[in-house]
This record gives sequence, structure tokens and C-alpha cells, in this order.
Amino acid sequence: MQEFKKCPFCGKGKLVKKVTEEVFNYKGKTITIPDYVIHECNVCGESIVDRKTLKSAGKKLKEFKRQVEGLLTPEEIRNIRKKFGLSQEKMGEILGGGKKSFARYETGQLCQSRPMDNLLRILDAYPFVIQILIKDKIKQVEKQSRKIKDLELQKSLQSSE
Ligand SMILES: [Zn+2]
Repeated sequence: MQEFKKCPFCGKGKLVKKVTEEVFNYKGKTITIPDYVIHECNVCGESIVDRKTLKSAGKKLKEFKRQVEGLLTPEEIRNIRKKFGLSQEKMGEILGGGKKSFARYETGQLCQSRPMDNLLRILDAYPFVIQILIKDKIKQVEKQSRKIKDLELQKSLQSSE
């Protein structure tokens, strides 16, 4: 005998696996996702989207949104980063967005913001511009290490008094 989960919505029906297709709209454009697996209640008709489907559909929807918005694709982002010979972590540190942002952009897990997209396009066209950001980072690091040195100096002065 096959076991069915009880419906969490009505508590009466049971959830039955169903393969369907789902249509999504974004800014007037539509996308149809086939093999969309849901678990539908045979009493109230409510449904839960299958976990795997949710993940794969999420990726497809981000791709779709990127297309509609005219944003760079994960491959294009990867190619731009490679131009600079920087790791995903370093790129995220320099451009902002955090260490994991580029790993996520490049796998399509995360859709970059419009400002990040613009920045990447500028860097792609004018690679030397990245120097401005790198120099700025170095300055910040220098400032920090200077502060630490000052602190150490103070400490050593105090202890020698
Ligand atoms: Zn139900």
C-alpha cells in the first residue's frame, strides 16, 4: 500500500503527486516550466510544490528574469571576472556584495542587481577602471594596519613609562 501524506491545509485529504506545467509572468513576459511536480490534496485542491521542482524552477525563473531585464548571464559574468584573473572571492571583495556573491551569480543561484550589472559592463569595456577600486581597498587596508601599529606604539610607550 502506498502511503500518502495528510494535507496540511484541510487535514482531511491526502497529497497526491502530480506532474504539470506552470506558467509564470514577469513584466508582461511569460515562461512555461514543464515537468512541474506538485503534491495536490484530493479534497481541498491545495498543493505544495515539490522541493526539487522548487529549486530547479527557481533557477529557471531567475534566468528568465535576467533575460527580461537584459542583465548579464552567469557565463558572461564568469568571463568578465576571468579577464581580471581574480577569484570569485576576491572579485566579491573588490566590487562589493561579499565573498560568496560571485559564486552565486556564476551558478545562477543569485541574480545580480542592476548597479552590479552596470559596474561589470563598465569594467568589461574599461578594464583599467578596476584599479580605482583596488587602490581604494589597499588604502583601506593600509589605514587599518596603520591604526594597529599606532595602537601597538601607544601600548609600548605606555608600558615603558
Ligand atoms: Zn486538503
